[in-house]
This record gives sequence, structure tokens and C-alpha cells, in this order.
Amino acid sequence: MKKINRRNFVTAASTGFLGLALGGKSANAHSILVPGQEEGSKIKNYNAFGKTGLKVSDVIFGAGQVFSSDVIRYAFDLGVNTFDTAEHYMNGKSEELVGAGLKGIRDKAIIITKLPFWGGRPKTKQSILERMNKSLKKLQTDYVDFLFIHMIDDLSLVKDVEVRSAYEQLKKEGKVRFTGFSTHNAKGTLAECVKPDLIDFMDAILFMYNHMEGQEIEHLVKAVRQKGIGTIAMKVLAGGKQGNLKAFIPKAGSYPGAAIGWALGNKNLDCCVMTMGSFTQVDEYVAASGKKLKRDDLATLRTYKKLVDKEYCRVSCSECETACPKRVAISDIMRYAMYFEDYKQEKIALQHYKDLDIKKKPLSCASCTGPCISACPHGLPVKEKLLSAHQMLIT
Ligand code: SF4
Ligand code: SF4
Repeated sequence: MKKINRRNFVTAASTGFLGLALGGKSANAHSILVPGQEEGSKIKNYNAFGKTGLKVSDVIFGAGQVFSSDVIRYAFDLGVNTFDTAEHYMNGKSEELVGAGLKGIRDKAIIITKLPFWGGRPKTKQSILERMNKSLKKLQTDYVDFLFIHMIDDLSLVKDVEVRSAYEQLKKEGKVRFTGFSTHNAKGTLAECVKPDLIDFMDAILFMYNHMEGQEIEHLVKAVRQKGIGTIAMKVLAGGKQGNLKAFIPKAGSYPGAAIGWALGNKNLDCCVMTMGSFTQVDEYVAASGKKLKRDDLATLRTYKKLVDKEYCRVSCSECETACPKRVAISDIMRYAMYFEDYKQEKIALQHYKDLDIKKKPLSCASCTGPCISACPHGLPVKEKLLSAHQMLIT
């Protein structure tokens, strides 16, 4: 298969699609280095992936919003060796694109996929086996390296007899090599996942970790890594608000480069997953591989934190929710708003909001005095943000 580079892709692609794949840049963008990128930037570090025996690139490909298999292949050619997708990403299209992008090089790549169980999805063993068979077909492979239980707040699904039995059978059949889970609630899951009755399931886990709230869970990350569990950080950009901060121009390098460098500074972290939707994003994130933080990077992180401190709803936090008499899903709604406004993942955000139980939506906020506001230790205007999120996300 011909190697994909920015130049031959630009020649081949139609202009309409190109705008999307290049993240809105012009057709000449291939000749411009992104901030922090050096000519020929490639992945520099491969880390032991827990106790699996695998080596993982320190920056891995998040396929939650990718529109071309060429972008996947391009990342592989730059040394990214691990590709993270999920059954439901882009309504199943993500797995198809990962399969197409890795065609012919499947044995050189590590594939992570995930099954969600929210929104009334069945949890029976038979249904899980069937879902996995469909995923394998889309991925054009007869096995995945990792199958995670997707986005759990506690470990009840790991303990569920049907779910556990299905994942174990998939391992025995060779369709899945390793298992684990992904979570936004590291505080509520990492300490428990190392318990003797659960540890066998824990080959790798994926959790929120970034420069604005990662410090709080570093002891937990260390504890799981010491047990040989592979560790993957997500939400590394702490809201990814840099695109909406007009006055925020790093003195050197880029904000994503600094944020990835901060995360990779934790030796208990095996890799960071970054959503790569365009060639430009691949270039920018790959350039951060092996990065050691410099003084300018630290200044960039400090400036970012200052600018978003009262805007960024911490992903791992739910402190204000106990103050809400209506039990509004504040943290989830804030996260969906972040997907919409900052990540530009409008469809994903709208779908999540649609799936949210109506009782947890902020329908009573307008007439409420807003005890959630004083309950937020970070000073976010919670009520105001929820009302505007509802306006933005209602379909
Ligand atoms: S403003 Fe809304 S979220 Fe805040 S306490 Fe009142 S009902 Fe709950
Ligand atoms: S609004 Fe504040 S308290 Fe509530 S979840 Fe977000 S950061 Fe935490």
C-alpha cells in the first residue's frame, strides 16, 4: 500500500472533503509546519503497555471524530501504533475507518475498541458476543488487542456475571487479547479495580488525566501501574478551549504540545489518547511525542489555566451535584457542552444530550435560586452555563 503523506493526499482529495480532513486548512497547508512540529516529526517513544508485553507509542490515535482512513494511515506512517475506537463512535463508522486505515498492516498495529452499555443497550452474554462479532467485521480483523467496557462511573459492570463471562469467553476464543475499562471517574474506580477479584480483568484502563486536575489522582495512577495495569490518559487538553481563546497565543510551541508534555511527564502513564480528525491534528500531536516540558510550556499551561479556570468544568468533579434539589446531571451536561463548543463534536454532543434522562436535564434551573453555584469550588457560574447548554443541545 502506498504511504500516505500530506502531499499525495492533497493531490488526490476532492476540495469539499479536504476542508474537513485538514481541519479547515487550505490545500497549501501541507507545506506549513504546525507549532511545535519539526520537519519529519515522528513518534519518539514507545512505552511498555502495562504487563501486556506490548509496546505502545506515547501518543495514540483517538478515532472518535475521524473522517478518512487516510488520516489513520498517515498517523501509522508517523509511528503511531495504537488506535482507539468504540462500537458507537460515529454510529459505527469509526470502526470501519480504523479497519480500512489499517488494512494490510493490521498485525503491526494495536486496536482498542470499547462497548458502551448505557441507553438501554443489552448486557446479556449472547448480545455482547454478537456485538463484538459485528465490531470485528467492521474492523476487518479476527481479533482486537483490547476490549474495554466503555465509560463507567463504578465497577458494577465489571462485576456483572453476564458481562464478565462474555469478555472472558472472547478472550478464550482469541477474539480479544486484553480487557479493561474507560472512565471519567478515576477517583471512584482506580482504587477498587486492583482488588483481587477484579485484577484479572484489568489489563489496561483509560481515564481522564490533565494538567488542571490530574494531580489529584496521581497516587491512584501509580498504584494501578505498579500492579502492571496499562495506563492511558484522555481529556489531556483540559477542555480543549484553546481554539476559542482569541487572546491566547503561546510564546513558543503549542498548547496541545505543552499539555501532552505535561501528561507524559508522569512515568506511570503509558500513553495519551488524542482525538485526531485531520492531518494537522496528527502532525501537532505526534510532534509532542517524547516531549520534555520547557519553561515556555509551563508558562503556556499557567496562562491557559488562568483563562479557563472559571469556565472549565472539571471532568472528574461532581461536587455541586449534591447541592442540587433536582439532581440535575450537571457534570455530564457540562461535558456535552464542552464536546459541542470546544471539541466541535456537535453530533456526539447532541446525541448524548438526547439520550440523557429528562429528569436529569436542567428544566427547573430558570426558577431555582441556584445552590449549585456556591457549591462549585472553582467558581463556575453553574446555573448560567446549564441554561445556555440546554439551549445549545436541545433538538
Ligand atoms: S440551578 Fe439547576 S442545577 Fe443548580 S441547583 Fe438549581 S436546579 Fe439544580
Ligand atoms: S460545576 Fe464546578 S462543582 Fe460542578 S462539576 Fe463542574 S467543576 Fe465540579
